[in-house]
Amino acid sequence: MNVDFGGLEKGTSIHIRRSNGRVHKAIVTQLQPTTASVTVEWFEDDETKGKEVSLEMIFELNQDLAPENKKPVPQERPTSRQRHSREYRSFRKSSHKRADARPANQRRTMLQAPTASVRNQQKENRSPSPGYGPRRVAKPDYQPPPPAARQSILNLPKSYDNDKVANNVPINGNGMAMPPPKAPPRGRKSNVVDEVEKLRKNREERRAAQVIERERRQQYYDPNNANWEFAIMIKEFRASLEMKPLTAADPVLDHRICVCVRKRPLNKKELGRKEIDVVTVPSKNIVMVSEPKSKVDMTKYLENQNFRFDYSFDETCTNEMVYWYTARPLVECIFEGGMATCFAYGQTGSGKTHTMGGDFTMGKAQDTRKGIYALAAQDVFHLLQKPTYRHHNLDVYASFFEIYSGKVFDLLNKKCRLRVLEDGRQQVQVVGLQERRVTSIEEVLQLISDGTRCRTSGVTSANQHSSRSHAVFQLILRRSGPRQLLHGKFSLIDLAGNERGADTTSADRQTRVEGSEINKSLLALKECIRAMSQNKQHLPFRASKLTQVLRDSFIGERSRTCMIATISPGITSCEHSLNTLRYADRVKELALDDGGDEPFKKRHAAAGGGGGGGGGGGMLDRIDESPQQAGMHSPNNSDLALISSICENEISREMFEVHQTVSSLQEIEEETVECHRNFLQGMSTSMAASTNLFNMTEDVDFDAEGYVARVKDHLETFEQENKKLLEDFKEKLNLFEQTLLEEEAVSQNMKNKAGNRKV
Ligand code: ADP
Ligand code: MG
Repeated sequence: MNVDFGGLEKGTSIHIRRSNGRVHKAIVTQLQPTTASVTVEWFEDDETKGKEVSLEMIFELNQDLAPENKKPVPQERPTSRQRHSREYRSFRKSSHKRADARPANQRRTMLQAPTASVRNQQKENRSPSPGYGPRRVAKPDYQPPPPAARQSILNLPKSYDNDKVANNVPINGNGMAMPPPKAPPRGRKSNVVDEVEKLRKNREERRAAQVIERERRQQYYDPNNANWEFAIMIKEFRASLEMKPLTAADPVLDHRICVCVRKRPLNKKELGRKEIDVVTVPSKNIVMVSEPKSKVDMTKYLENQNFRFDYSFDETCTNEMVYWYTARPLVECIFEGGMATCFAYGQTGSGKTHTMGGDFTMGKAQDTRKGIYALAAQDVFHLLQKPTYRHHNLDVYASFFEIYSGKVFDLLNKKCRLRVLEDGRQQVQVVGLQERRVTSIEEVLQLISDGTRCRTSGVTSANQHSSRSHAVFQLILRRSGPRQLLHGKFSLIDLAGNERGADTTSADRQTRVEGSEINKSLLALKECIRAMSQNKQHLPFRASKLTQVLRDSFIGERSRTCMIATISPGITSCEHSLNTLRYADRVKELALDDGGDEPFKKRHAAAGGGGGGGGGGGMLDRIDESPQQAGMHSPNNSDLALISSICENEISREMFEVHQTVSSLQEIEEETVECHRNFLQGMSTSMAASTNLFNMTEDVDFDAEGYVARVKDHLETFEQENKKLLEDFKEKLNLFEQTLLEEEAVSQNMKNKAGNRKV
């Protein structure tokens, strides 16, 4: 059969009408020439659904896609003035699609019963479609449906059977519609009367639709809000969804790697700007972003992108609720000798600090009691008293530090800069990091407040600084006793704003280095989680300082992690929110072969309950580290190269070069500082010896020969030792200077390439 599919092809987004009268978008997945139909799929109730729809029905609702010979002749052509009015342009699409503009015979087809194959397909499609992937699903773009359809979304939907009954379609014993009886032959006159009647009905329907459309626009029209039409579309889109948000009664699942998303409410500033909220959380694990778009002809439409995570928290969720499903299940893990990490990831201002540290509204003191740091500490003290864990004799310690531009600063010790060293057993140590013993929640709250104050001291806005640094709060369990053996560790991390990773082309070097370090660390974090989920032998932790200091949290059977992606709901944050969701989606995707919950529980059980030193011993034995190499192929850069080869699509060649040069710059800076330290130490030792010799001369009976011999000896040693120190120091300084120039050139190159691309 030669079937003309008009503008339909696989992947075309079309409107379909459901048996209950609802009209919504679906994606064409298969063309069916034998039955003159297509198979479509859409996303609903957390699953992909599908059905087969006849071409007739499709062209009925999607006239712009119909083959030329089936397209209706427009009855009213717009005047040129109308064509150029903005309002008209925005809604032209929908007014062209009015039901009343359709020929009567096409309208009729909507009332016919589905074919047998469609019915079968409908039955089958109650279960998710196998070929469409379990998570990222159709993108049911949303455009204002034609007024007739819109009515069915706004008003109570008419059921299919009602349609049939209302239109006197005969129904057989199975409740299915039967073909209408053949009309008796009529004369020419009655045909003319019929046509006139149809035209009258069409006119009435059209006017009724116009009234609805006018009322609708009047109701929402807002001259002060350029996006008011999108606001209507989103409102109507939401009205068409069945909302089933997460409730406290939903079960907490046992994930080794848990990825979830939290949407914050619009804040006062955004409300003042009349920003529209483009993020919808319809169910406990879905989040939808309605991206406003305009076609070339200025028709406005929404492009919906759906994401599925382990949990999605809407704007009404409290910190306690978020904590319950994310960090709380991890507290027990550290009592069982494991390592846990919980990250807040997102754009600056999206709610990371609010979630981790507590509400920090400008002008008010931070309510640290309601942050995940404090809630976790509270549960740690609670579990400590439980009979199961009391016999472990554990003490609780806390540390709080910040990583800024690849450097570590102690927030519990006046922001003292700390060195990160790897010992002979390839264990990473933050040298001199203060760990304070804590025995009550009040002490923990005090530490959080002090640390936060230290983090933001001297900064006009808390976000100005925190957007560029990662804050790491750790709750550490150690066995009581002289050796204070590590038992388990919970690291809670308020990450730098992810948009800062794009600052690599700034005119200012410090901003470039910050941006590169943030970009690298977020990529490295993702890859370390992936290596963790796959129990990989090599962990590319050396690519960033963040992953370096968290290294032991990514290894071992008992390690668990949770990522909370925070998003701002406003239309102006749409692009950033999508970036955040894509990143979180990739982390989840990578974690899929976590194998679900059961295998994890088995592995967990096999690894045994309590005991086992958290950060050391057996947990590290499995890791096969890359051998130490020097120069350009330093371990840091080889891990970076590994990451960039895995994330080819996320990091360009030029960006990789920038990261590589910045890494070298950071390494050489550290080495130069180290040389300077050694030089100073050498100088002060020599100075002390020299001072002793000098003091000899003040004795009344000083031994002149002895003095001369000893000073000569001293000067020779001084020359030899300090010559080496001086040479090393000078060499490092030259290298540092050279790398600074190199960094400048690479960043300029990146800027030029970016500029060329824009042109
Ligand atoms: P970030 O740390 O990601 O830069 P913040 O946590 O500082 O963002 O949040 C920015 C602003 O939004 C703060 O004023 C904060 O109080 C507010 N905020 C964030 N999340 C929420 C939420 N879930 N509910 C209410 N206000 C929030
Ligand atoms: Mg913050």
